[in-house]
Amino acid sequence: MTTHDLPRILGRYRGKIPGPTLVCIGGIHGNEWMGILAIQRMLESLQRSHLPFHGEFIGLVGNRQAAQQHQRFIHRDFNRMWHAEIVHELTQPGVIPNDAEAQELQELWSCLQFLIEDTAHPITFLDLHSYSAEGLPFAIVTDRPDNLHLAEFIPVPVILGAEKYVPGTLMSYLNDLGYSMIVIEGGQHHDPAARDTLELAIWQTFVANGNLESAPTEVMETLYEHLTKLTHEFPPLMKIVYRHAVTEEAGFVMEPGFTNLEVVHAHQLLAHDHSGEIRAQQAGRIFLPLYQKQGNDGFFLVTDLEKRHPI
Ligand SMILES: [Zn+2]
Repeated sequence: MTTHDLPRILGRYRGKIPGPTLVCIGGIHGNEWMGILAIQRMLESLQRSHLPFHGEFIGLVGNRQAAQQHQRFIHRDFNRMWHAEIVHELTQPGVIPNDAEAQELQELWSCLQFLIEDTAHPITFLDLHSYSAEGLPFAIVTDRPDNLHLAEFIPVPVILGAEKYVPGTLMSYLNDLGYSMIVIEGGQHHDPAARDTLELAIWQTFVANGNLESAPTEVMETLYEHLTKLTHEFPPLMKIVYRHAVTEEAGFVMEPGFTNLEVVHAHQLLAHDHSGEIRAQQAGRIFLPLYQKQGNDGFFLVTDLEKRHPI
């Protein structure tokens, strides 16, 4: 498949046994192709397999136009515009989209609505991402039992609090409508290990969602074991406590070499911009340091939480 004929719906797989639906979205940021590739690989695996699959799996592309150009977005960040008023405004009959992402929102939302109305079974959403720094994969989850349940099956740290610091995500929007949805950040944008992690996340979400009783043994012995080894020394639950917002004009440059979820001390030098040095407000771990041109989040700080909430 060339990127020019990238479809909105990457594929649908229906198991022989009725059951819940899992809708998986890749490329809501158009430079994050590992999610799209993980979905494509999963669709191929399911077609080849004879697994007792319950229900349905549907793979979608988020920001199709940006993905075709391998850019995070064309005009604005597609994962920051899912506010009820914006969605309402853009989806009124006859509204002509005023930029690429407005058109993407209209198309993706009408696709999601069709899928929601098309099934009589419960429907769950999984959103696949990657990032620019090196470092550990993780899940972004709203602090709610249904979402924490999904994340529990994937051996990566869980980050809470994104809905407060990063408003307008598709996850928050669908969560507010009552649907279960989590985000998995699989690793660095072009690292095949990110695709493997995202593929494992889909397998394990099948199990959490009731589509499969277990992931195939070879997946558990390779991808699951590998990821568990990588993540087991990290705290299982962390919370965002700070976001450093940047504008294009600010001249923000991250200090080199930070890896995702690396420990930083209070007042440590993290970045520069036109107004000078930017130092850590408090001790914690640096989260999603910005090492790419597009994006309004310079970095976040997260702190460890003592233990998982009872689920
Ligand atoms: Zn992303």
